[in-house]
Amino acid sequence: MQIVVIGGGLTGIAAARAHQDKGHDVTLVTNDSHLGGVLATTVIDGVPRNHSAQSFALTADLTALFTAWGVRDALFDAPPEAGTRCIVYQGRVHRLNSPLHLITSRLVPVTTVLKALLRLGKPLPEGEPTIAEIVRYYADQVVVERLARPIVAGIFAGDPERLSFKACFPSVGRASPRRMGRTRRSVVLPIHGMADFAGRLADGLTDVRLGWWAQSIEQSSNMWVVRSDHDVIHADRVILTVSAHSAASLVSEHDSLLGTKLSAMAYGGVRVLHCSYWKYQQAVTLHAFGALWADSGPVRGMVDLSMLMHVQSDRQFAVVFITPGATTEEAMSEVRRVFKISGEIQIDLEIDWTHAIPQYESGHLELIEQITAFEAQYPGLLLVGNYRGGVSVGDRIRQGVETSWTS
Ligand SMILES: Cc1cc2nc3c(=O)[nH]c(=O)nc-3n(C[C@H](O)[C@H](O)[C@H](O)COP(=O)(O)OP(=O)(O)OC[C@H]3O[C@@H](n4cnc5c(N)ncnc54)[C@H](O)[C@@H]3O)c2cc1C
Repeated sequence: MQIVVIGGGLTGIAAARAHQDKGHDVTLVTNDSHLGGVLATTVIDGVPRNHSAQSFALTADLTALFTAWGVRDALFDAPPEAGTRCIVYQGRVHRLNSPLHLITSRLVPVTTVLKALLRLGKPLPEGEPTIAEIVRYYADQVVVERLARPIVAGIFAGDPERLSFKACFPSVGRASPRRMGRTRRSVVLPIHGMADFAGRLADGLTDVRLGWWAQSIEQSSNMWVVRSDHDVIHADRVILTVSAHSAASLVSEHDSLLGTKLSAMAYGGVRVLHCSYWKYQQAVTLHAFGALWADSGPVRGMVDLSMLMHVQSDRQFAVVFITPGATTEEAMSEVRRVFKISGEIQIDLEIDWTHAIPQYESGHLELIEQITAFEAQYPGLLLVGNYRGGVSVGDRIRQGVETSWTS
């Protein structure tokens, strides 16, 4: 089979590699000058600083895949402290390395925790509730404010009152909430940064066309015809791994309603600040993956890069995620206040993401149904961007690979 994969991010690389492994002729086209899509890395002070994703969860299926592809050695495991998360509430850091800490840290009243434990056996409600509605159903508004909001803002750049629980957590939606968090996972990071890892995943792809902008996809007899600003390519199967907005312009001609829905999809923005300071000037240390802010303000979250990457240095390296529109100064003064940092915080790198993470808002399941119906109507054209099937690094690789199962 002749396959064209459009988009050179993780989804596209995984789809291309999995199809090539099955013996198909694969052409990967991407409009960027590099592979990896949103994954980019700048090395500063010898430490790789990732522009977007910092780390990801390694599960058994990904371990098997990376071993088969010979890339497991490109990743190292974060230390056990990475299992601990912190929430900043009322200016204080609350450590959460077990559900018990919810009580002992006094982040959530004991009565709320007991109420939630008693309700855990309740089946998920019908329909497409938001994350906040589900949290209120099993616990209460306090948990929305002190846990759900910081987690959803910090991880999905989103709002729990808008995001669809079942679309954001499809595996939890299928299982009982009692099973939440039971899958064995460890946090991993690419040794030389995310961009290098994307390159390793793409090793062996025989036909990669960088700087090619796919402009239309048409059907001609039994083939698909992909027109780009460089050339025309014929294919039996076209796999579209681009963002919802790019996909919209490529599918509108075939299904204008689907095109309109995809172009209306919201993407959350975030500013990423890589910073560093002297460890001895910090009075409150994390000993955790990082912190998420329940307090409203400029900062949404912070990742302890030194700990995750085993950096042995007197400098502390951190990544701070801030609300678009907030200033670097406001954010740094909040970080200084919470962690009691007396010296200067140096900003090493700033990246502005206006469209970082697709928002699986209420109504998203209907969009997925529409995409499934579209694919049934146009066999050989697959839509697998990160507006479908999860946004994390693991989800994207998994979804790319899964496109090859039917080839
Ligand atoms: C700021 C930020 C922080 C994140 N943090 C984490 C994290 O810590 N952990 C985690 O697991 N995940 C994280 N993610 C999510 C994860 O990184 C992304 O979901 C994933 O990398 C997206 O991969 P993709 O291949 O689906 O899309 P993309 O990386 O967007 O790739 C799509 C590619 O298609 C190209 N393209 C678009 N239109 C066309 C066209 N018409 N023709 C040709 N090419 C086209 C684009 O230029 C791009 O190269 C983060 C994302 C962001 C933005």
